[in-house]
Amino acid sequence: MKTVVQHLSNLIRIPSPSFLSNRPIIDYAAAALDEAQWHSREIVYRDAAGVEKVNLIAAPLRQNVDDTPIQLALMCHTDTVPYSKDWPQALEPVIADGLLHGCGACDVKGFLACLLTSIAQSDSSSLLDGLRLILTADEEIGCVGAAHLVGSELLKPRRVVVGEPTSLHPARAGKGYGLAEVTVFGEEAHSALPHKGRSAIYRAARLVTAIEEYSAFLAEEQHPFFSPGFTTLNIGTIQGGTAKNTIPGQCRFQLEWRPIPGQAGDTVPAAVLKIADTLRSTDPDFQCKLQVLRHQNGFESPASSRLVRSIEAITGRAAVSIPFGSEGSLLASVAEEVIVFGPGDMQTAHSSRECVPLNELNEAVNCLQSLMKRG
Ligand SMILES: [Zn+2]
Repeated sequence: MKTVVQHLSNLIRIPSPSFLSNRPIIDYAAAALDEAQWHSREIVYRDAAGVEKVNLIAAPLRQNVDDTPIQLALMCHTDTVPYSKDWPQALEPVIADGLLHGCGACDVKGFLACLLTSIAQSDSSSLLDGLRLILTADEEIGCVGAAHLVGSELLKPRRVVVGEPTSLHPARAGKGYGLAEVTVFGEEAHSALPHKGRSAIYRAARLVTAIEEYSAFLAEEQHPFFSPGFTTLNIGTIQGGTAKNTIPGQCRFQLEWRPIPGQAGDTVPAAVLKIADTLRSTDPDFQCKLQVLRHQNGFESPASSRLVRSIEAITGRAAVSIPFGSEGSLLASVAEEVIVFGPGDMQTAHSSRECVPLNELNEAVNCLQSLMKRG
């Protein structure tokens, strides 16, 4: 039987950035599940580039993968972000000072290794009825694999644990994620004759300044369980104009926001369109287009929910909130209780510093064994 460190080292050696097929990771997990006498079912789709992607649902011996309801789903994504060329050891796990380093060590192959180890060490007959393991593709590019499962109604669990690095704290609330592209229109002209045109960049600058002022207003709606305890905004990219001597005809920027749970999904886009209306009072030809590219609400499970209490009791750690996006938001639309949980710290993820503490891996294996029995 493999140890959690052996599983994690093997998983890190299999490259799985989202642009590749996750088939090799799924095959590795399916073989380990088969050895533990779990049944699994693959749900295959092709991504936008035509690459094969695989979600997997698995159930313990004597339970049927297709039976409902799913009482407790343990979820884990199988992709990583791409690793930098300056990190030659991304796929070569290294242990130093009690930490295992490598791409995916904490986000989130560490949790997958803990799942496979705890499943192998558990007696199937002692596990909860309605227990499922769910492995997903393409989490890092917008929870695409999980959306396939939820959209096809194959995934309607009552309670869900989503694996992400939380230093083994149960995270019972998370902010959502929104992204929009805003295009501001002007009218091109020779820059020697500026009165013949309308500068899209000047117009965008006024809109951007107004959005910055609006962000201070957003900070008034507080959610004290988060830090920062309000919806944050960012304009991360801006492009406009075609030449130094042309009045720019277009300016485009990306607006990102991270909404607190409970905030209506269209709050920020609606506010930006209202700001644009206001700008029209002094510039009647002001025109812009806002296209929402992504939107996910935040999620929050009550402090008193069974899953929160259970993981608090098993780990001895208090529930927290997380500032990063996860499949938790998506699952909250179909599940009664959602928790994000796993070994490692997201502050090391998506970088060449990525690592996971060995003691947290071992502790997570024990926690998962308890959770699979008691729920
Ligand atoms: Zn992750």
